[in-house]
Amino acid sequence: MMDIVNSYRMAVYLVRGAWKCVLAQVRWFQSGERYSTSEQLKERLDHCVPCEFRANERCTMCNCPIVEKAMMTTEFCPIDKWKSNG
Ligand code: SF4
Repeated sequence: MMDIVNSYRMAVYLVRGAWKCVLAQVRWFQSGERYSTSEQLKERLDHCVPCEFRANERCTMCNCPIVEKAMMTTEFCPIDKWKSNG
């Protein structure tokens, strides 16, 4: 029974992460696909690298790959450590 529950939770986690990724891509395309400047990228990564929610180069709060997330101007930290520049 626990295997089914854990599989269900994993499926929900993966689908939610994929959906958030799609929304992030749409926001970015709509903004003209602008990349962060090197200063913005550094400022964002200065928060992400030591963050307690970073694991395997992903943000566990939103399940996004951190570097790719930080490179997109329209992205933002889900707990407000850094803001969108989009
Ligand atoms: S986006 Fe925010 S919560 Fe996620 S790893 Fe970076 S600083 Fe932490």
